[in-house]
Amino acid sequence: MYLLFDIGGTNMRVAVSDGATITQTKIFPTPADFGAGLDIFKQFADQEIEKVAGGIAGPLDKNKTMLIKSPHIGGWVQKPLKQKLTEVFDAKVYLENDTALVALGEANYGAGVGKNIVAYLGIGTGVGGARIVNGRIDENSLGFEPGHQIIVPDGNLCRCGGKGHLETYVAGAYHDRNQTNRDEVAKYLAIGLNNTIVHWSPDIVILGGGVMQSISIDKVRTYLKETLTIFPHAPAVVPSQLRDTAGLFGALTIIKQSV
Ligand SMILES: [Zn+2]
Repeated sequence: MYLLFDIGGTNMRVAVSDGATITQTKIFPTPADFGAGLDIFKQFADQEIEKVAGGIAGPLDKNKTMLIKSPHIGGWVQKPLKQKLTEVFDAKVYLENDTALVALGEANYGAGVGKNIVAYLGIGTGVGGARIVNGRIDENSLGFEPGHQIIVPDGNLCRCGGKGHLETYVAGAYHDRNQTNRDEVAKYLAIGLNNTIVHWSPDIVILGGGVMQSISIDKVRTYLKETLTIFPHAPAVVPSQLRDTAGLFGALTIIKQSV
């Protein structure tokens, strides 16, 4: 059996899989403390686990062994997650950025099935995303951060320290502060998608994350059509299909691709 997990800023999910289906999915509030997080994993250690894979919210170190930065789960930063999970399960462990795994799950099991180049953007508390090519996370040096592209010079201050980043105009964490209305969110998101499309040249754009429940994807498409003038047509812009389980499907994909 495989153990799959998805550690988000608010909740974490842990599940097992036989390689075909995902079962025993359990959801916990993500502990602020790393040790408490490991205790959750230990609840699953009585099973025969061959491989472990999962994502965690934030950028990882170069060798993908631990989280190196996080505004939400600071207690997990610089903690040897991969090493500890290897010890707990006596199994091979694969760690990824959580949004990259969500994108991978959507590309292989959700809205991106059959598409060669998939751009995924998750608009939630923050904005994350990834480029998937032929079913795999595209090669990258430092990860993908479409939420931190600049769309307004000297604009809103971003929690990363930058100014005018897409995230500050569309993500949930900034809505109250800036009293942004939904129509403006759709407009700013279309600008961000324009930039992502001209750089990533995707066959399809998948939009996920909690904020997408409250803004009209049709409006985003309409604004994008006005904005994206260099290509004869915009790629399809569709909502995510797997929602909260996409990260677990991405984790399963990583294990299958490791064979
Ligand atoms: Zn930023």
